[in-house]
Formats: sequence, C-alpha cells, structure tokens
Amino acid sequence: MTGNRTFTMIKPDAVESGHIGPILEKITAAGFKIVAMKYTQLSRRDAETFYAIHKERPFFGELVEFMTRGPIVAAILEKDNAVEDYRALIGATNPEQAAEGTIRKLYATSVAENAVHGADSDENAAIEGAFHFSGREIF
Ligand code: ATP
Ligand code: MG
Repeated sequence: MTGNRTFTMIKPDAVESGHIGPILEKITAAGFKIVAMKYTQLSRRDAETFYAIHKERPFFGELVEFMTRGPIVAAILEKDNAVEDYRALIGATNPEQAAEGTIRKLYATSVAENAVHGADSDENAAIEGAFHFSGREIF
C-alpha cells in the first residue's frame, strides 16, 4: 500500500529566484493538496540532520551551505500515491536529466541547486513532515 502524503521544500535557490509562486502553481495543478506549509530557514544543525544520510558524500559540506543560505518553503502535500507522483513531478536530481515540464527542468540550475526537495519514501515523508510541523499545523 502506498501513502497519500509527501514532504517537499522549495530550496533557497528557487526562493531567491522568485519561483515560489510558479512552483506552488505546478504542485496544485498536478492535483496535490497543501495540508501544511511554512516559510522558514534551516539552521546548520537542521540541514545536517535532514541530510544526515549524505554525510559521507563529497558534496555534503556544499549541500549544508546551500540549504542554509536563505529561506525555504516547507510543505506537506496530499494526493494518492503522493511520494512517487511528486518525484515524477519534480524530475531527476540533475536538471540536465530531468524530463521536460518537470519542476527541476524548469527551475533547477545544477545538480546541487535543484530548486526543490521531494521525500523518497512514505517513511521519510512522515519523518520529514514531523521535523517541520506539529499536529496542529497540519490540516
Ligand atoms: P532531494 O533529497 O533534495 O529531493 P534527490 O533525492 O533528488 O534530492 P539526493 O541524492 O537525495 O537527490 O541528494 C540530495 C541533494 O544533494 C540533491 O538534491 C542536491 O541538492 C545535492 N546533491 C546531490 N548530488 C550532488 C552532487 N553530485 N553535487 C552536489 N550536490 C549534490
Ligand atoms: Mg533525496
């Protein structure tokens, strides 16, 4: 059985470029309902915790610098088959490999600065959502 919620962030690059509005429009046009959302900034510790799975990777330092350099939009999205469908909507990690019309094809500028995050499993979607939102912030 697949879950009906995923977690996303609009990353600092896309916020800086003024792409919050168009990205939210793509998300809602694709049938996702926003059930929680906030404008916030990750601390270094937040980013290191959030991306702990990548801590041995050569790009980890760069990733933490990038994710903390400015505000982000965090959101929980609801739709049937949410995790998989949202990964399809955002496209491949590297925008050069992302399919036409995907959020990363449209708004990402590099494999590092790739506009949005999408949870990669139901389990991680729940963990990441709980990292940012209390029960009374989810509707
Ligand atoms: P995300 O988890 O942010 O949705 P993803 O699941 O598509 O992205 P991951 O492999 O989880 O990709 O990588 C996490 C993030 O680390 C990427 O989105 C990107 O910002 C950064 N990253 C990944 N690979 C590289 C790389 N080779 N060089 C620099 N940054 C990278
Ligand atoms: Mg990932």
